[in-house]
Amino acid sequence: MRKSKLRFILPLFLAIVLLTATLSSASIGFYFDYKPTFSITNIAYLVDSSVSGYAQSIEDAFSTWKEKTKNNDVNARVGYYKVSSSPYYTPPAQVVFTLSTTGTSYTAYFTATGAPANSGTGEPYSNWAKCVIYLAPNLSDPKATVIHELGHVFSLKHPFENPEGVYKMQTSCMIPSIAPSTYIKYRSTVPTAFDVANVNSRFK
Ligand SMILES: [Zn+2]
Repeated sequence: MRKSKLRFILPLFLAIVLLTATLSSASIGFYFDYKPTFSITNIAYLVDSSVSGYAQSIEDAFSTWKEKTKNNDVNARVGYYKVSSSPYYTPPAQVVFTLSTTGTSYTAYFTATGAPANSGTGEPYSNWAKCVIYLAPNLSDPKATVIHELGHVFSLKHPFENPEGVYKMQTSCMIPSIAPSTYIKYRSTVPTAFDVANVNSRFK
């Protein structure tokens, strides 16, 4: 009697331990397999002449992220400096802004050897040495767009697309302006506490 009971209880106990471990490691964040290998504390950024009209908005977007993350862990505080020319693919991490020819804004990732680190669709990727943010012409709120794309650089994905499904209804700067109507009401033009906590969780 006792032995058969134990046979039932032990697997149940192990299952609970495993589930608890999984949930606690997933307590915040919505793209769990992505951990950036480069720090975001000292990003060199370059504004291509094709988007020089957005230069002030880009500066303001970085400044906003820096202010919002200033209380994060040391490695999760956004820091940046502007460069006018840049040796590509050499750390520290770099972000280059240029004009999009597709009509939409997105972020692409490249490795230290210059190879695309993803398919160019704007999916976060851990091994980037350089990110290129493509900005569409005639943006109505370029600062909000840059804040959103920088969120991708800092590892964030659209909450409503997260595979776990549990963060869908979170107010976030990672809701794009073209999001489905169900989610657009959760859109923020600045990083929210949720976004800041997510960045923090990526650089521990
Ligand atoms: Zn996006």
